[in-house]
Amino acid sequence: MTFIAQILTLYPDMFPGPLGASLAGRAMEEGKWSCNPIQMRDFATDKHKSVDDTPAGGGAGMVLRADVMASAVDHALEQQPHAPIVAMTPRGKPLTQARVRDISAGPGVTILCGRFEGFDERIFDARPIEQVSIGDYILSGGEMGALVLLDACIRLLPGVMGASSSGDDESFETGLLEYPQFTRPQKWEGRVIPEVLRSGDHAKIAAWRKQRAEEDTRLRRPDLWEHHRDAPDQSPSGARGQKKEDRS
Ligand code: SAH
Repeated sequence: MTFIAQILTLYPDMFPGPLGASLAGRAMEEGKWSCNPIQMRDFATDKHKSVDDTPAGGGAGMVLRADVMASAVDHALEQQPHAPIVAMTPRGKPLTQARVRDISAGPGVTILCGRFEGFDERIFDARPIEQVSIGDYILSGGEMGALVLLDACIRLLPGVMGASSSGDDESFETGLLEYPQFTRPQKWEGRVIPEVLRSGDHAKIAAWRKQRAEEDTRLRRPDLWEHHRDAPDQSPSGARGQKKEDRS
């Protein structure tokens, strides 16, 4: 099955861009996903092909028109009725690995890329659009966000990553950051790889990794740690429904 990415943008030349290389590029050549950029300007109706207008209430910049966006979204919906429609906006819900996993398990995704000051808010009432942010900073347009979302989805498509298990321990998959990694040379600039990783004792290695994943998450990402600690235990052997701190 091909995962179909439709991208509504004023800059279709930005696609596939970096997704034409490496893992995603190979996956595209193999037909595991397809990249369909759509020029939003084609849905403008006036003779200047305008997609934007000045903000109601005044202020700097321009705003993307709801009527033009709706025509573009309706076209995308006709092409792919079952794919979620995601608009890139810093006002959206922060993108998570869990959402990426959900999207990558579906038939594809339609991504609406903003520019200027963003979208006329009415588009979000009028069409089934999920608002997504890729982080608390401002980009000049939604295209980079679209590339980020697609890269994250594509690597999860069946057969794209070499060893399918290589994703399981990854940061965020377990609600924690991943443990730190090391490779040869054994000694570099006087620094050695932690002894335990050279022990060959798999149980000890797993315990060390778990402890480092927890410690690093607690120190670097107290927000994730808080959430992880409060979440009911999901492990098959764990006492389901109990908070982790309640267990002895
Ligand atoms: N005036 C807006 C920012 C507009 S930036 C505000 O302050 O909220 C122009 C476009 O870039 C946005 O419409 C959006 O599509 C994209 N963009 C900028 N930052 C983003 C982010 N953090 N996540 C997702 N999209 C972003």
